[in-house]
Amino acid sequence: MRFIKSLFLSLIMIFSINSYAQKMRCSTDQDTEFMKRLQRNVDNSFTQKAKVARFVPVELHLVADNDGSLTLTEDEIISKMCILNNRYADIEMHFYIAGINKIFNTTLNHRQGLASSRTLMRNNKNEDAMNIFLVNEILQNDFEPSGAAGYYTGGGNDFIVMLQSTPGDDGYTMEHEIGHHFSLAHTHFGWEGDISQGSSSGGYNPLIHGDTVTIEIITGSTQAPPTEVELMDGSNCTTAGDRICDTPPDYGFGQACSCCTMRWDVWDRNGDMIIPMLDNIMSYSQNCPENFFTDGQRDAMFEDFDSPLRSHLRTGEVTEYTPITEEVTITSPQVADKFDSFDGVLIEWDAVLNAETYVVNISGGQQLRYETSDTEMYIEELEPSSLYFVDVKAYNKFGTGCQNSIRVFFETGTGSTSTNETESINDINIYPNPVKNAEDLVIDYNSDKNIVSKIRLHNLQGKVVELINTTFAAGNNKFKINTSALISGLYILEIETEEGIISEKIIVE
Ligand SMILES: [Zn+2]
Repeated sequence: MRFIKSLFLSLIMIFSINSYAQKMRCSTDQDTEFMKRLQRNVDNSFTQKAKVARFVPVELHLVADNDGSLTLTEDEIISKMCILNNRYADIEMHFYIAGINKIFNTTLNHRQGLASSRTLMRNNKNEDAMNIFLVNEILQNDFEPSGAAGYYTGGGNDFIVMLQSTPGDDGYTMEHEIGHHFSLAHTHFGWEGDISQGSSSGGYNPLIHGDTVTIEIITGSTQAPPTEVELMDGSNCTTAGDRICDTPPDYGFGQACSCCTMRWDVWDRNGDMIIPMLDNIMSYSQNCPENFFTDGQRDAMFEDFDSPLRSHLRTGEVTEYTPITEEVTITSPQVADKFDSFDGVLIEWDAVLNAETYVVNISGGQQLRYETSDTEMYIEELEPSSLYFVDVKAYNKFGTGCQNSIRVFFETGTGSTSTNETESINDINIYPNPVKNAEDLVIDYNSDKNIVSKIRLHNLQGKVVELINTTFAAGNNKFKINTSALISGLYILEIETEEGIISEKIIVE
């Protein structure tokens, strides 16, 4: 047993964030209308706006195949919200979950380009939130260009479609698409995709464009109309590239390598050396340790959020950012606890600041999931002589914490908690059962000695509705519990002493 215990101790599972080193292409169409909106936001952002936090409601659409397969679980997506919120914390935009919507539709899960899929997404939109559809696959032949994600506007669309694998990825896919949702263009606007003058992947190519880029207009982007080539001195920053002046020129440098370093020495037509901002969220560079927005980008996004187009997002319902910043510490069971019984295991944990809900996941012998606002859960569905893992996550509208969740494991025994005697307490009689609401439930017993006891009444969801700490006196005794506050249903009464637990099912009528 000692060997097994140490073996499992070394196996304490720590969840880690999946990392995808790839920055995946997006298929956002930055057409003339899109750029007009951006231009308006940039122009308006020069008038001083309040730099107060913006709170964005998000509807997460978890798309699955017809049979429910190939999707994300609620827990998986909620756990990624903290990454999104951390990455937007600097610019004071905070995202809270307005709703989670599940859609079972194989076609939508793979082929979002079909008219029927677009209609389905429009019909599923939460009109009071930013909408994100998380899909299994984005097939090339259904719309062009394809990619890992895209923001779709026009024709009543106004939603983001993303691969289920991308939230929280190192490519900042979700953060990038939300940038588009709030009108930002690529830093390399005009140089995307299969540019006729560029390399096959698009963007700058020294063999074609030379060390000094002399062309004044770049054409052939699959995602943007022809546009002026931006200069390093900022002289055309409001009419070229992404129209944001604190992001330097980017001739699509990030598309040619999986790196975060500038591969070439390149000069603009004025002879100024180009120093791009490769770690910008709206660029396509890859493998940067972190990515950022500039102040100019933030101001344009704020302006978009404050515009009439986005009035539906300004609900005023959330005004304070209260993220979960601590992990849940499970106080019972302890790692490697071995219980005598199997049909009554109490899981307890410490309360976590800002938690609204706790999700208890049990795995191993069975897969069980519970939600509660309490800090304990009584589990009766376990099997005898089985090994279980339990982890508890704290949630609120901003998602769950980014901290690791530490699992503990325990083993159930073969005994049952449904005993009705312990060594000292005997001749126990609990009546009436069923008990009518407001009637007293009587515990009649004989005790050999004074014994400290904890009386607990809980419902089948594990919620403790009555907890009494008392001492049973030696001799024959009666103890009464008032049931007037209880709704009718099945409850479990437990009397816990140092000698064990006496447990009985009680029906309240
Ligand atoms: Zn993009």
